Amino acid sequence: MINKLKQIFILLFVPLILSFNCGETGSAGQVKENKPDLKSMKDSIRKPLDKMQLLVNAYPDYIEKAENNKIYWKDGTTMVYDDGKDKSYEDLLDNPDIEDMLSQEYTLGANWDIPPAKNFEPGRIRNEPFFRKMYGDSKSAVMSNLTTINWFGTSVQVSTVNGVDEQFKSVIAELEKLPSEFHKYFKRTAGTFNYRKIAGTDRYSAHSFGIAIDINTDYSDYWQWDKSMTYKNKIPIEIVEVFEKYGFVWGGKWYHYDTMHFEFRPELIIK
Ligand SMILES: [Zn+2]
Repeated sequence: MINKLKQIFILLFVPLILSFNCGETGSAGQVKENKPDLKSMKDSIRKPLDKMQLLVNAYPDYIEKAENNKIYWKDGTTMVYDDGKDKSYEDLLDNPDIEDMLSQEYTLGANWDIPPAKNFEPGRIRNEPFFRKMYGDSKSAVMSNLTTINWFGTSVQVSTVNGVDEQFKSVIAELEKLPSEFHKYFKRTAGTFNYRKIAGTDRYSAHSFGIAIDINTDYSDYWQWDKSMTYKNKIPIEIVEVFEKYGFVWGGKWYHYDTMHFEFRPELIIK
C-alpha cells in the first residue's frame, strides 16, 4: 500500500515539480528563460523589511540602519521597532511603537478612499520618542532648531531638522504657482509651531515639533467641530498634492479628519 502511494506521488507530483523548475509561462504564453529575476526576488525578500527601510530612507540624517527589529540611530542608540503587543485603537494612539506608525498606508493623490474607513488615518499614530529624538526633547530643544520663514506674508516658525524648512519653501513656491482661485485656502495660516498637547489627550501635537502647518480655518473642517464624524472637506486636492510632493501628509485623509492640517512625514510618502 505504502509503495503504491509512493508510486502515485512520484507519477503525479514529480512532473509537476519539474515543470515549475523549467520556467514560468509569461503573459504572452511564451516560456521565459529559467533565469532568476533578481529584481523581483529582491523585492519579495525585502517585503517584510520594507517598512523599516522606509524610515532609513526618510530620515537619512538621523537613522543609520534598521534591522533585527531595531532602529539604529547615528548617535549610537537604538529603539525597538515592533514591541509585539496587541493594541486597541486607543492604545495605538497613546502607546504606539514605531511599527504601529507605519501600520496604515498613506495613499498619495486624488485616488484615495473617501470618506476614510473607521479609524483609518495614516500619520495620526505617532511614536513620540521617535520625533523627540530628531526634533527636540523639550520646548527649548525644539525651539533651538526652528527658523522663521515667510508663509505668504506671515512669519512662521518651522524646524530646520531633516530640512523641513526647505520642504516648506518648496511647497510655498509651488502653491504660489497654482491658479488664483486656490489661493484663498492656504494664503492665511492658523499656525505652525505650537508646543502643546492635543486637546483632551496626553499626546503632543505634531505642531510641537515645528513640522506641521494649519492652513485657512475658514475653509477647513475638523472632526472636533462636529463630533458626528460625518466627513467633510473643502480643500482642493491640487493643494494636497503639492504638500504630498514634499513629504507632508494631509489630515483630510483621516477618519478623524483635520483638513487644515499638513505634517512632514516622509516615511509615509516615500515608496
Ligand atoms: Zn494642525
